[in-house]
Amino acid sequence: MGGSGLVVRELSVGYGPVRALRRVSLQVPEGSVVTVLGSNGAGKSTLLRAISRTLSFHGGTVTEGEVRLDDRRLDGLAPDRVVAAGVSHVPEGRQVFSRMTVADNLRAGSLGGCRAGRPKALARVHELFPVLAERAQQRAGLLSGGEQQMLAVARALMAVPKVLLLDEPSLGLAPLMAQRIADTVREINEQGTSVLLVEQNAALALRLATRAYVLEVGEVTLSGPAAELAASDEVRRRYLGVV
Ligand code: ATP
Repeated sequence: MGGSGLVVRELSVGYGPVRALRRVSLQVPEGSVVTVLGSNGAGKSTLLRAISRTLSFHGGTVTEGEVRLDDRRLDGLAPDRVVAAGVSHVPEGRQVFSRMTVADNLRAGSLGGCRAGRPKALARVHELFPVLAERAQQRAGLLSGGEQQMLAVARALMAVPKVLLLDEPSLGLAPLMAQRIADTVREINEQGTSVLLVEQNAALALRLATRAYVLEVGEVTLSGPAAELAASDEVRRRYLGVV
């Protein structure tokens, strides 16, 4: 692999005295979908925040370790520089700008990016999510939950990332809508974008991913090919609800 893709090495994170991650290492090889499974509070969102450098907005700090994309260090960069370097983060809970129109939300996603590339990026997200073209002038807050999730993903894609960090994209969505989002994640990946997917819906995540990691109380306890983890008794019992 030779350092290509996203590499997290021995990353530890604290929120004040609370240690949220302990020496977490993982890789998202170029072009892959990698998932991180874990129960509530395991540290999944913290991991994505540490990569996107938005951790400080939540009162957290990286205490050790490093994050690289294609051999370039990302830790130490400001969040907008991480986006410019090729990593876009769709945080949990969608967080679209609800009073702004769909079109303005998408425009916000491309700020700082290459101006010349915007029409192409917009055409791509409209092709992936035709509903966003139909609703371009509507306020984002009026969209359904699933459509808001689409908008959040689309906004991140406007920066034309190499790696997309997705935090619980299926949360709170009806199964059919969750499946639609999953199908689109696969399509985005097939177009060449790597994906680091954090999910509580382990069954859905393991179908999408090539590799998976299990995070428990801030530590990686299991990792391997997604199909292997999906077949393991431990994962089946704890995360797939198979008794
Ligand atoms: P969830 O799915 O519930 O979001 P998670 O696996 O994403 O869970 P994190 O939200 O990353 O877990 O939380 C990891 C640990 O860090 C937990 O113990 C949590 O209480 C703590 N934590 C998270 N955010 C903060 C914060 N802003 N301040 C203090 N502690 C926090």
